[in-house]
Amino acid sequence: MGEGQNVDVLVLGAGAAGMTAALAAHARGLKVLLVESSNQVGGTSSTSAGTLWLPCAAQDDAKGTCRDQARAYLEASIGRGAEAAKIDALLDSGPQLLRFLHSATRVRLSAVAAHPDYLQSLPGATLGGRAFAPAEFDGRLLGPAFARIRPPLAEFMVLGGMMVSKADIPDLLNATREPRSFLRAARLVLRHAMDRLTRKRGTRLVMGNALVAQLFATVLDKRIEIAFESTVTRVQRDGTGFSCVVGHAQGERAVRIGKALVLATGGFSGNAQMRERWLPAPAIAHSVAHGGNSGGGIDLGMALGGAVEDKHKSPAFWMPVSTMKRADGSVATFPHIMLDRAKPGLLAVNSAALRFANEADSYHHLCEAMLDNARQTGSAQFYLIADAAFIKSYGIGMVRPGLKSLSKFVASGYLTHATSPAGLAAQLGLDPGVLQGTLARYNTSAASAVDLDFNRGESALNRHNGDPLHTPNPCLRPLDTTALYAVRIHVADLGTSLGLSTDADARVLDSAGTPVPGLYACGNDMASMMRGAYPGPGTTLGPGMTFAWRAARHIASA
Ligand SMILES: Cc1cc2nc3c(=O)[nH]c(=O)nc-3n(C[C@H](O)[C@H](O)[C@H](O)COP(=O)(O)OP(=O)(O)OC[C@H]3O[C@@H](n4cnc5c(N)ncnc54)[C@H](O)[C@@H]3O)c2cc1C
Repeated sequence: MGEGQNVDVLVLGAGAAGMTAALAAHARGLKVLLVESSNQVGGTSSTSAGTLWLPCAAQDDAKGTCRDQARAYLEASIGRGAEAAKIDALLDSGPQLLRFLHSATRVRLSAVAAHPDYLQSLPGATLGGRAFAPAEFDGRLLGPAFARIRPPLAEFMVLGGMMVSKADIPDLLNATREPRSFLRAARLVLRHAMDRLTRKRGTRLVMGNALVAQLFATVLDKRIEIAFESTVTRVQRDGTGFSCVVGHAQGERAVRIGKALVLATGGFSGNAQMRERWLPAPAIAHSVAHGGNSGGGIDLGMALGGAVEDKHKSPAFWMPVSTMKRADGSVATFPHIMLDRAKPGLLAVNSAALRFANEADSYHHLCEAMLDNARQTGSAQFYLIADAAFIKSYGIGMVRPGLKSLSKFVASGYLTHATSPAGLAAQLGLDPGVLQGTLARYNTSAASAVDLDFNRGESALNRHNGDPLHTPNPCLRPLDTTALYAVRIHVADLGTSLGLSTDADARVLDSAGTPVPGLYACGNDMASMMRGAYPGPGTTLGPGMTFAWRAARHIASA
């Protein structure tokens, strides 16, 4: 075993929550060691959209109106079990987190004016201002350390490694029609081409990759030590702190932790046993979270006396995904977040060939409807159905808009194509009469611009993600039933909600509700304060980073 080392704080896991905890502890004068099991920082945070839901974080709220509205919305969203102390903690410390990030780190976030909350019918829902998005970041500033940033999902990049943000899409699609779009698209592509001369992927980072790079750049600025490809293999309480062993392929070293161990290993998405134990059967097979998040923090927390909250409204947060075999035999998993489902001319059906939900609702809520439907009707299969014109305009899943031919996707089995409802039903194993009826009813709704069954296109959220050029209902248009395509979708988790029980300062609690001295959990290792509810964009990263900041503040004051 190598030389012993003394630190005040050991943070386990270098995702957004872990790096935030490390930076906030360092800023309070504590000596920090960050221990990361992989050879890269970022975990799921780096492949995410990078949005933080931080209500009232940047508003002047002298009268407290914003907080009252946000509190009402959170209580209504979470329902039974909502914890007032954690709601107040988020509302108090969201603004403090933002001030800290902007004054002491390279993270730059701005409130998105139009980004509706996901449960628009609840009291206190807003149309924007609660979601914060990271500024784009130039990966070249990291020098060789750029290789330490976990790349985004391959399916979210174009031209072999170019990141595309939501704001880039209109310019890329209109490049051949609008001179301004052409210029911007040309600049993006040229920059990317230059990057590719020397690097494996583009260095213009957006969304979660930008957030992670900004945090990591600050970790490097502050010279906080990171032990890569390492983890805590043994730990025991030692007076006021812990004695632990940090293991690496090349050996072990003893570390004495004077004040606190912060668990930030990203939850249990990558742990097969925990998935079996805690997730509903239809959701066990698919995940879009980082596979290395194998519940190590939760295991360690339990071994040190922490309790797990295992009764949330939903044990994880969901996204509908489609899958396709890549040329090398691996399976690509594509999350249908917001580019296709709300656009006009698409519907979803179950294995009875019936619609079962508003397809334009949030990814999490559509998946909840899939899980409910599977439970109630036994449906084992779900499909998105659209027509050729839809795919040409908007794409669907892995199929990008504007493609001349879809034959590659049909041949691979990703898309199922038919020239009639009966033909599509035969290929998908659905009842042809029922599918014909479902499509006819959808088309009747679409012709009148009013969804007779699921209110598609009525909520501000639906309309935000629809096609603003399609009026009067931006989410509804009849399908051409002679040119139909279907994609099978599954429920996947984007991160887990169940986790270690904590108080509002992220101190891990035992089964009696007493804090385990010196032990903290944040990010998805901490049981989500939302208890499986999904109020808006940034539901995991907003609280994840806020409670990381609060953990550091508490450690410094203890
Ligand atoms: C496509 C997609 C989009 C998303 N968009 C958003 C969004 O916009 N907003 C939002 O709030 N959420 C979003 N999410 C969810 C969000 O990304 C995650 O919930 C969040 O990143 C979790 O952060 P974390 O810091 O807890 O974990 P991570 O970022 O996953 O970090 C955990 C780190 O711990 C390391 N680790 C794991 N085990 C160990 C161990 N035993 N020892 C040491 N290190 C370990 C991992 O390698 C990893 O680096 C999205 C998810 C996906 C898949």
